[in-house]
Amino acid sequence: MAIATINPATGATVKSFEPMSESEVQEAIRIADARWKQFRTVSFEQRATWMHAAADNLEADIDTVAEMMTLEMGKTLAAARGEAAKCVKGLRFYADNAEAMLADEALPGGADTVGASRAYTRYESLGVVLAVMPWNYPFWQVLRFAAPALMAGNVGLLKHASNVPQCAMYIQDLFERSGFPKGCFQTLLISAGQVEGVLRDPRVAAATITGSEWAGRSVASICGDEIKPSVLELGGNDPFIVMPSADLESAVATAVTARTQNNGQSCIAAKRFLVHADVYDQFTTRFVEAMSALVVGDPVDDTTDVGPLATSDGRDEVKELVDDAIDKGASILCGGRALDGPGWYFQPTVISDISSEMRVNDEEVFGPVAMLHRVTDMDDAIAVANSTPFGLGSSAWTSSREEQDRFAAEIAAGQVFINGMTTSYPELPFGGTKRSGYGRELSYHGLREFCNAKTVWVK
Ligand code: NAP
Repeated sequence: MAIATINPATGATVKSFEPMSESEVQEAIRIADARWKQFRTVSFEQRATWMHAAADNLEADIDTVAEMMTLEMGKTLAAARGEAAKCVKGLRFYADNAEAMLADEALPGGADTVGASRAYTRYESLGVVLAVMPWNYPFWQVLRFAAPALMAGNVGLLKHASNVPQCAMYIQDLFERSGFPKGCFQTLLISAGQVEGVLRDPRVAAATITGSEWAGRSVASICGDEIKPSVLELGGNDPFIVMPSADLESAVATAVTARTQNNGQSCIAAKRFLVHADVYDQFTTRFVEAMSALVVGDPVDDTTDVGPLATSDGRDEVKELVDDAIDKGASILCGGRALDGPGWYFQPTVISDISSEMRVNDEEVFGPVAMLHRVTDMDDAIAVANSTPFGLGSSAWTSSREEQDRFAAEIAAGQVFINGMTTSYPELPFGGTKRSGYGRELSYHGLREFCNAKTVWVK
């Protein structure tokens, strides 16, 4: 994939970039490695000062970065502003809390229990971490890695998706002008094919990837071969369960947002709607009506609900999956088509009569397409929810405490949200199970992913 800014609303190439040469990549790794040897000893207080400056600078630039995101990957301007504001909050959270979250940890029973006068765990940075990131949240995905990683004393190399180079370069610049010394965070303008060389470099200690299953498998296998830790944040096919006691109005409104947020391109978007037979008809009527009423159009326009898909290939994949379902007997309740004309638009779509041989059942649909399933009871809802190779997020709607507790315990996913939309918070761990990946971002779990938990035992 060429490294270029291509406007998804028009298909026009705005600006192209040359990938870095091998010697430029080597120089960046050298600078990162040399920087880490100093940066690891910088105090939390100093790192926090720079992180707060980054938050303030980003806050001052919200309108500029929002326009950049919308231009490069097509999310609506309102969504882009929201993403930038969330990043500001995330940077401040790690500036304020990393030191306490990484404090030395004493033994619960005291050092005597292991025959020592002092025994504790200390958390130390690992070194240079490569982050391979996707375009869908071009700021949040990067900063949710970078803020905890830098606060823990690591340094970052970013290989961003090829269609968001201006966002990638802005982020390096943000950290540098906020005071972080050169080399703490560098953007590598490289192709996917150049990732292996970086991962195999002995000066690179670990990797994190947010992206598709295929890219995750490649990064994980190289890291396995090199015995380097990795975090994988991959795809999802999240269930959204509606039980008879749910507040239906709220469930329908949230269902529409949960499926169409970010123009339908979110890993934790609700994708499969599992609705109890007692409320299936009511839910379906209201949901289809609301999905049909969404305004599809130019993402810079304030009245637009759903903008274009980010890439032409991405739209082709959505179309193929929907056509496969139609060919195998699915019913289209609304939408179902790519729009004619410039830009990569796809209609908000609701599909029912899904069967197990359809690709939409097992594969992630990265566009505004909802799959409806009728379920008969709690057991059926849980069985259908778990009948996917993925295990990222989930959302269940019920006012019964007993049902809430069963969903929380029995859905195989990294996140269970009850009566609310699955989302991420800087304060809470985020990640998946099964083929959605492993490891956690955010909270103290994320902070510690790229730390050496060192045991210290003193007689
Ligand atoms: P993608 O094609 O896998 O790309 C993600 C990143 O990986 C890009 O930087 C890409 O570079 C790079 N890449 C692709 N193939 C690679 C390979 N073989 N080796 C090394 N790097 C490689 O995914 P995407 O289409 O950008 O993003 C959509 C996917 O990300 C969806 O599956 C979505 O669910 C998932 N996602 C997951 C989370 C989560 O937190 N779990 C969050 C957001 C998105 P190029 O752009 O140069 O190809």
